[in-house]
Amino acid sequence: MQFNRREFMKGAGAGVAGLALSQLGLDLEPVKAYAGSLKIDGAKDIVTVCPFCSVSCNIIASVKDGRLVSTEGDPDYPINQGALCAKGASMLSMTRSNHRVAHPLYRAPGSAQWEEKSWEWMFERISRRVKETRDKDFIPKNAKGQTVNRLESMFFIGTSHADNEECAAIVQMSRGLGLVHIDHQART
Ligand code: SF4
Repeated sequence: MQFNRREFMKGAGAGVAGLALSQLGLDLEPVKAYAGSLKIDGAKDIVTVCPFCSVSCNIIASVKDGRLVSTEGDPDYPINQGALCAKGASMLSMTRSNHRVAHPLYRAPGSAQWEEKSWEWMFERISRRVKETRDKDFIPKNAKGQTVNRLESMFFIGTSHADNEECAAIVQMSRGLGLVHIDHQART
């Protein structure tokens, strides 16, 4: 019989714990009952790739009843060997946390209050402000008459939870507008 590293670790952990407890003369039924209630019990493991940077660590995603119940680093993958950085380790909470903001929030200039807005309202407002700023400040040529096509009055700062493909699309859009001030938490 062949085991992969993860199955071996699970089996070894259960075996050592069970042996130690049984040698002490303890009743293992409550332990078995507890093991049966673990969140990944009966879940399907799917190996996937962390999308947050080009290291591309492998993650084991456990899915139960159509719902993601656990994510952890894949010990069989040679690049990350089971480890994940803080971003990869937060994968589960990124999808399931109660703290996630589920609607666009807008804070008017000078206001201390956040207002919930629709996506349509937010897209229209952002598009309008971007166009107004670009129309006003776009610099087609520099002082020497050289073509530069720059927009220096706007910047884009990325989020650590934008994935590789989102970042690629954001950079293309930003360069297309002429932005030169672009930054991101995981710049590579
Ligand atoms: S963000 Fe972290 S966990 Fe994800 S691929 Fe990069 S190093 Fe790995």
